[in-house]
Amino acid sequence: VLSLHHVSKRFGDHAALDGVSLDVHEGEVVVVVGPSGSGKSTLVRCVHQLEAIDGGSMHLDGELLGYEPHRGGLRPLRERGVAAQRRRIGMVFQQFQLFPHFTALRNVAEAPMRVHGASRADAEREAMELLERVGLHDRAHHYPRQLSGGQQQRVAIARALAVRPRVLLCDEPTSALDPELVDEVLAVLRGLAADGLTMVVVTHEMAFAREVGDRLVFMEAGRVVESGPPAELFARPRTARLRAFLSRHT
Ligand code: ATP
Ligand code: MG
Repeated sequence: VLSLHHVSKRFGDHAALDGVSLDVHEGEVVVVVGPSGSGKSTLVRCVHQLEAIDGGSMHLDGELLGYEPHRGGLRPLRERGVAAQRRRIGMVFQQFQLFPHFTALRNVAEAPMRVHGASRADAEREAMELLERVGLHDRAHHYPRQLSGGQQQRVAIARALAVRPRVLLCDEPTSALDPELVDEVLAVLRGLAADGLTMVVVTHEMAFAREVGDRLVFMEAGRVVESGPPAELFARPRTARLRAFLSRHT
């Protein structure tokens, strides 16, 4: 579904991503872990084209992200092209980022209405189904400030799903939550994984990584240091760095 080939991204002379290659297959859940500053957020932000990459390439369903053929070469996609590609990728942020002046229902229905031209009735019917899927159909008419953090994040997940993305990217979806609210959000992600949604999840929740992840990717200093089945990496980290990381986080 998603394929990254030698992707690099620098900020000034600092390499936030230094030749990252990654393949995410249909229905796969890839969990990305690594110390602060290792490039995890930059990775998902680049895939969502919130940041432009400096080298390498990314493909979604075989289509090059961010560029189009032009006179035998490539040129950066215009805004509309980027927007069209971005719609095939769902993103959930650490800080929910809901529209504060919209109800939960409207937050979820907005993109299908505005972007896909769905009728309000259709968009709201589907939004209601999505809110049900995240366990919040009884909160549909609440505003974000009337919801707990865990509820807001579940609305954000429903919103990300509303455009029917090919892949859902989550950047530390539970890091801003009080500990007692973490499980309800992880339970929703677990359910989506069980339904076969393709996901890339950046998280420090090692139990989730172990139980839900099909693959664990350990990053450090902008590189993928290790990648493999979580159970294997947990049991037998090949590098001292992953071993040290795991001993701090489990
Ligand atoms: P954390 O676990 O703290 O969220 P991370 O793994 O998500 O860390 P990134 O946010 O991807 O790390 O940052 C990777 C590196 O790139 C860091 O050194 C960071 O300071 C740098 N960086 C990220 N965004 C920018 C930016 N907009 N401008 C300059 N440097 C940046
Ligand atoms: Mg981050």
